Amino acid sequence: MQINQELCIGCQACIPFCTMAAIRAEDGGSVDIDFDECVECGVCQKMNVCPVDALVQNELEYPRTVRSTFSNPEKPHARTKRHGRGTEEMKTNDVTDRYRMGEIGLCIEMGRPGIGVRLRDVEKISTVMASLGLELEECNPLFDHVADVKTGKLHQAVLNEKVMSAIIEVKQAPDAVALVLDSLKQAAQGIDTVMTISVICRVDDNGEIPDYERLKRYGYISNGHAKVNLGLGRVSDPQEEVVS
Ligand code: SF4
Ligand code: SF4
Repeated sequence: MQINQELCIGCQACIPFCTMAAIRAEDGGSVDIDFDECVECGVCQKMNVCPVDALVQNELEYPRTVRSTFSNPEKPHARTKRHGRGTEEMKTNDVTDRYRMGEIGLCIEMGRPGIGVRLRDVEKISTVMASLGLELEECNPLFDHVADVKTGKLHQAVLNEKVMSAIIEVKQAPDAVALVLDSLKQAAQGIDTVMTISVICRVDDNGEIPDYERLKRYGYISNGHAKVNLGLGRVSDPQEEVVS
């Protein structure tokens, strides 16, 4: 995003709407955008608060395009053509069956509005996951930026790019969950943003989370919040739900 300085009257109306506090008033009364901090989310322009249409979405080139695809829900990812930072299939498991009964995954969400995340910090976590032998989810848009699946390293070109948030998703053996969570806790010390870890699994017939007792023993408790996508999917094959 850019401000057309020939049009801008310095009213500062756009400043409160920046998700990264990247629009700043300069000494002398002008207003400008910190190019390095802007995540290209488009919110400032979308709010339509500028009285003179001085906010301009300039044409983006790779690797800066990565900022907008992870931060602006209207910009689709190049390969999947899907929108958003996460994995659609995690929320539509009733259709995809990616997570069967007894299987478990981790969703590691890095960055939020107000702080964002550099992809070099995302790489610090993806390399830890790879070092534990966990495979990064291919359906996740982050996968397009992985240079080496064995090491979890991302393409050098994107490492300095800042995005609103990104999600790393891995499937793992339930028995290894403590090791993985402890490794994540250690790795979190070296990153410059916030990180949320979610456990992905099917609930059992009683609506309970399998392995929850085990997770509680490790000190991880559910906050009791849930998001349910109702009536949007179909069970792909009920017969295949039975896990031996
Ligand atoms: S595009 Fe987003 S991050 Fe960039 S200046 Fe506008 S609101 Fe701020
Ligand atoms: S709202 Fe428009 S005119 Fe006012 S400071 Fe922002 S860009 Fe400039």
